[in-house]
Amino acid sequence: MNKARTEYDALPYPKVVVVGGGFAGLELIRRLNGAPYKVLLLDKQNHHCFQPLLYQVATASLGADSIAHPFRRTVAPMPNVAFRMCMVTGVDPARKLVLTDRGEVQYDILVIASGSTTNFFGDRRMEQEAMQLKSISQALDIRSDFLQDFEAALYAQDEAGQRRCLNFIIVGGGPTGVEMAGALAEIRRTVLKREYRELDSERMQIWLVDSNERVLKNFSEKSSSQALRYLKEMGVSVKLEARVASYNGELVVFKDGSTMEANTLLWAAGVKGALIPGLENAAVPKADRYAVDRTNQLNGFTDVFALGDVALMTEGKWERGHPQVAQAAIQQAERLAQNLLRRSKGLPSEDFTYTDKGSMATIGRYKAVVDAGRLHLGGLIAWLAWMFVHLMALVGYRNRLQVLMGWAWKYMSWKNTIRLIIRPYVRNATVTEQEVASPPTV
Ligand SMILES: Cc1cc2nc3c(=O)[nH]c(=O)nc-3n(C[C@H](O)[C@H](O)[C@H](O)COP(=O)(O)OP(=O)(O)OC[C@H]3O[C@@H](n4cnc5c(N)ncnc54)[C@H](O)[C@@H]3O)c2cc1C
Repeated sequence: MNKARTEYDALPYPKVVVVGGGFAGLELIRRLNGAPYKVLLLDKQNHHCFQPLLYQVATASLGADSIAHPFRRTVAPMPNVAFRMCMVTGVDPARKLVLTDRGEVQYDILVIASGSTTNFFGDRRMEQEAMQLKSISQALDIRSDFLQDFEAALYAQDEAGQRRCLNFIIVGGGPTGVEMAGALAEIRRTVLKREYRELDSERMQIWLVDSNERVLKNFSEKSSSQALRYLKEMGVSVKLEARVASYNGELVVFKDGSTMEANTLLWAAGVKGALIPGLENAAVPKADRYAVDRTNQLNGFTDVFALGDVALMTEGKWERGHPQVAQAAIQQAERLAQNLLRRSKGLPSEDFTYTDKGSMATIGRYKAVVDAGRLHLGGLIAWLAWMFVHLMALVGYRNRLQVLMGWAWKYMSWKNTIRLIIRPYVRNATVTEQEVASPPTV
């Protein structure tokens, strides 16, 4: 029998099961490395995904392997940490069991760090037809989809057909929507113009739609207006205070009755916590997150904690919970690890307090915005700061080097080189008329 496996199994420590190896789960297991706990990480993927750079994979700037890191490489040097790839399907808190598609796992302490999923607010048809960006496979779908649309446009019978292929609608003016819109505008200016010479690049339209009166509504007004100006300079059509009523894969209908034809709609208008069946009592309705106390313990449960996007902690000015960003997930994991170490020494837990380190978004080359307290940065400095922060936050030296080289090549050559349709995107089968008529309530 494998010696390392036997040694792990024989560890006489309480067992901490961590569901999800995103920013929160990964930080937690790193900090519990060598601690008097037997830690088991469960994830449906075999890799950690650096979501902030997903849009660069979707727009052919970076390869998928640059922003992903295998869990096994992370846990290999950690004697008290193991990884199992499985889908967690439920929790039985009375028996202290995690239910998975591979069987049951016993725990002494359970940490749910399952992140969030795209929120379609119950619109099943939208869920079927729209693209979304939460995982590497979805990013690769978007990449294939827009490249397939470029190729299809060459076969379109008339100008209207060509415009439908080249009309890209992004719903949601948060950082993901803004970054996607900017990246597509750069592709129109470079790739489409240079390499699809038979196409009129002006026929490619990029629409950014948001129901708010400004993009980046969680940023300062200064950053919002600067981002809007950048987008307009780059030729993105921004439609504010507009709500999408429906999309059938070809036609977008807005609440005001106006319509737009488009083969591609990216839904980036909201997320909801990835809840696990069995812990419903702690779930906050509508927010779809677990209510936790200041130590991240689920309200009404013992020895069950939630971290990151899926946790909702009310604290100080964060009356509706912390923002669903990487820093909140990482900082909560740090505090929980410290508290578990205190617990192993018989000391009481300490409360978590979030430190807001600011927000940043990039719109295109030399165009970014940064808010840090009262400091606001824009332009080249913000863009360099954005690149530095994202580069340093990546997991693994190989990934950092790959991303650095990818960016150097892209920004020197003006080329998005990874434009390969390896796995053609095929849209999901359409939902039944009955499902469309009666979407589930949320
Ligand atoms: C496109 C995009 C861009 C973003 N940009 C930024 C940014 O610039 N800055 C920023 O701070 N934040 C950004 N965010 C948000 C940030 O990525 C999240 O806040 C952060 O990932 C939350 O960390 P987490 O650990 O809670 O969850 P995640 O990082 O989402 O990790 C959850 C993990 O749980 C696993 N999992 C889920 N359900 C199950 C299950 N049932 N069984 C097994 N495993 C499961 C998943 O596979 C995943 O590995 C972005 C998010 C997206 C999608």
